[in-house]
Amino acid sequence: MLRDNLLTVQKNILDASRNSGFDKNVTLIAVSKTHPAEQIKEVYDLGVRDFGENKVQELVDKYDKLPKDIKWHMIGHLQTNKVKYIIDKVCLIHSVDSLRLAEEINKQAKKKSLVMDVMVEVNVSGEKSKFGVEYDMAAKLVKDISLLENVRVVGLMTIAPASENPENSRHFFRKLQHLSIDIRSLNIDNILGMYLSMGMSGDYVVAVHEGADFVRVGTGIFGERHYNKDE
Ligand SMILES: *Cc1c(COP(=O)(O)O)cnc(C)c1O
Repeated sequence: MLRDNLLTVQKNILDASRNSGFDKNVTLIAVSKTHPAEQIKEVYDLGVRDFGENKVQELVDKYDKLPKDIKWHMIGHLQTNKVKYIIDKVCLIHSVDSLRLAEEINKQAKKKSLVMDVMVEVNVSGEKSKFGVEYDMAAKLVKDISLLENVRVVGLMTIAPASENPENSRHFFRKLQHLSIDIRSLNIDNILGMYLSMGMSGDYVVAVHEGADFVRVGTGIFGERHYNKDE
């Protein structure tokens, strides 16, 4: 089942990429939150190396149990006091939405003598329930973060509002793409590209049409998530 799911998602991404006009090499991040290490290992054995988690403790547990060539992506809201637990375990933090958080990442990265790649999470839709910096404040945040020595901005991330119809996400993905062009045109030093992390199980095909470099797919690969009642 996992194999069929994965092959379907991979094929959909390739088809969408060919039809998009962007012709990008899209990285599929298998979002493994709530799923046990054994299932992740199954997907790993099918060749996937990029996995996404949204909780620090869960990521650290899985990091310890699973092969060390996995590239872990932190995609969930990150509290400053927890940065130290993941700083040397993740390849990319997608969810930076304040200078304060970026400064803590910078501090912890410096301690480990590494440079951490991050994306700025943008609340494109403006929904109150969503994390992410306001659309109009994103360029400023990118600029401020670019001054930190041990953090490198590599792009922008967004989550479209929940919807039954993937077409409803298109507008938000397109706005993020436009923002990335605006920011690129500012020629800020110390920025390694403006990659886009957008699209989940319901709307990743639309995201690839609109220029996604990373899509984050959980349910589409692993099936439905079952949360513990006490979470
Ligand atoms: C859970 C999650 C995903 C994956 O969601 P699915 O709908 O299961 O594909 C993607 N991005 C973020 C930030 C998430 O928290």
